[in-house]
Amino acid sequence: MRRIYFDNNATTPVLPEVFEAMRPYFAEQFGNASSIHHHGQETRAAVERAREQVAALLGCRAAEIVFTSGGTEADNLAVFGVARPGDHVITSAIEHHAVLNACRHLHTKDAGCEVTYVAVDGSGVVDPADVRRALRPNTKLISIMMANNETGVVQPVAEIAKIAAEAGAYFHTDAVQAAGKIMVRVGEIGCDLLTVSGHKMHGPQGVGALYVRKGTELEARQYGGRHERSRRAGTENVAAIVGLGKAAELARAGLERGENKKIAELRDRLEKELSGIEASSVNGGGENPHTTQTTRCMGHPRVPNTTNICFDGIDGEALVIALDLKGLAVSTGAACSSGAIEPSHVLLAMGLTPDRARASIRFSLGKLNTTEEVEFAVGLVRETVERLRELSPVWGRTATSR
Ligand code: PLP
Repeated sequence: MRRIYFDNNATTPVLPEVFEAMRPYFAEQFGNASSIHHHGQETRAAVERAREQVAALLGCRAAEIVFTSGGTEADNLAVFGVARPGDHVITSAIEHHAVLNACRHLHTKDAGCEVTYVAVDGSGVVDPADVRRALRPNTKLISIMMANNETGVVQPVAEIAKIAAEAGAYFHTDAVQAAGKIMVRVGEIGCDLLTVSGHKMHGPQGVGALYVRKGTELEARQYGGRHERSRRAGTENVAAIVGLGKAAELARAGLERGENKKIAELRDRLEKELSGIEASSVNGGGENPHTTQTTRCMGHPRVPNTTNICFDGIDGEALVIALDLKGLAVSTGAACSSGAIEPSHVLLAMGLTPDRARASIRFSLGKLNTTEEVEFAVGLVRETVERLRELSPVWGRTATSR
């Protein structure tokens, strides 16, 4: 069966160049990067090269990059590494669970922090004025994501970073869904901490990095050796780090070549066709007539690869399964919550009703997708939505009465 993959926000295929760069570090160049002999020096050089490559993507110094086991660990390191008992933290209602659940833990008696979750408008955008209003004298950290994983909506992080700096608080941004899709330069954002993940930009799974601006007081989360300048203990996963470095290098080159414009064209075409299906609408990034909150930041930009579409009257899980049976891989939202029956916290925060949130599907394209795949997918989605609606007693009746 022909298979089309439109779930690149869940994970991306490792590019052949990335795989080739990693290959020697599984068997031939196996040294522990902390060993002083030849084998160790060989892998140490590879880790440091990767650090330079990630730093070049983000526009920072190599020494400011800490390698982790992925985006989740980097987010946790940022949140728990900075917040102390008695501190106040500001985050948003639409963060990935890697930040959201870390912040929920900060609320516990042991952690002893207060957390404010700022709302978003109907377009899925955090209003910097809300962040300013949430400030308290003891606000230590503000963590707002750069691009949302479900809608692709880009947040006004530079404005929020400025508010944090004026208030003397640290600013962390989860850039897992932004890196490689749009330019992510820590100097332009003005952040103190920034998270990236390998497998969202055609690198391997299980590796990520946290940018830690020089001078940021960050306490390590795990105890062990003095790896990563004592910021993250544990023998480095050399092959994965090399893969992340190569993926970062390729992502940077792709952005400089304007590759993301091609992806945006494909996404726009897909979105136009799918939102043309009866009773469907795009969630996020613009006016959404079905949201109950007012939309303050109309037309705010999104990353180029993502569209999230609500097909009224459809059960999103049923649509994902039906499309998968026909060879099209899409998602109902965050991969980590797939299989859960709760509607997306992101779409609910944007004001969608639970039914409409459940009827929404995320399509996330990647650099390997083609125009022909988009055309084929449009046909598949159209016929599957129509068939599922036919099977729905409520929708079927409504449709025939039209
Ligand atoms: N942050 C965002 C915005 C994500 O989309 C994800 C993964 O879906 C993560 C963090 C977690 O990254 P990882 O899968 O590398 O742990």
